[in-house]
Amino acid sequence: MPLEQCPTCGRDVSSNAPSCPHCGEPCTQEGFERARAARLQREVEELKQEKRNHRISSLKTSIVSIFKLIGIIILFVFLYKGCVEKDEKERQAEVAAPTCKSNYKLCKDNEDLINNYNGILDATFACKRVVDDNVKYGSPDWNFISKFGQYRAGKDYVEKGIIYIADREVKIQNEYGVSQKSEVFCEYDLISKKVLRVYP
Ligand SMILES: [Zn+2]
Repeated sequence: MPLEQCPTCGRDVSSNAPSCPHCGEPCTQEGFERARAARLQREVEELKQEKRNHRISSLKTSIVSIFKLIGIIILFVFLYKGCVEKDEKERQAEVAAPTCKSNYKLCKDNEDLINNYNGILDATFACKRVVDDNVKYGSPDWNFISKFGQYRAGKDYVEKGIIYIADREVKIQNEYGVSQKSEVFCEYDLISKKVLRVYP
């Protein structure tokens, strides 16, 4: 038996019943049709409302995301500006009163020069490149953290402008393709910025 909805109380009624058993409303075809139409209308309204709510919530999510992004960008710009300003201040201070950082002759000793002189990075890079270009077999496997980290104690680097650095961590292939921990030495001229010797 098909069920209909009572147009008055909204509860289920058999379509053959003479009146609603819940509220006593007489059952007519016209009354059932009215109830069906009203239900349909309600469902359409609910669907529309749901769509609207969904649109609003996704809009809210988008707005929050945009604000987060803007926040992150502002933070990065701020940090970047801070770094640039700090570098510039340090550069100006170095120009006004040079130290071991920019002038190796002002370093206290070999250790100070190796640890603080800005040109050391160029030196280790150049030495590494000469070794890379001159090994007989394969390509050297350098220690990721320290390259040419060894130096001699004393003051001769500062006095002569020639540094002597060594790497004992690098692995170099032998004629049988076996990687072996090796020792390489590099002599580098801080004035001409050139590698003088690499050995063995
Ligand atoms: Zn009823």
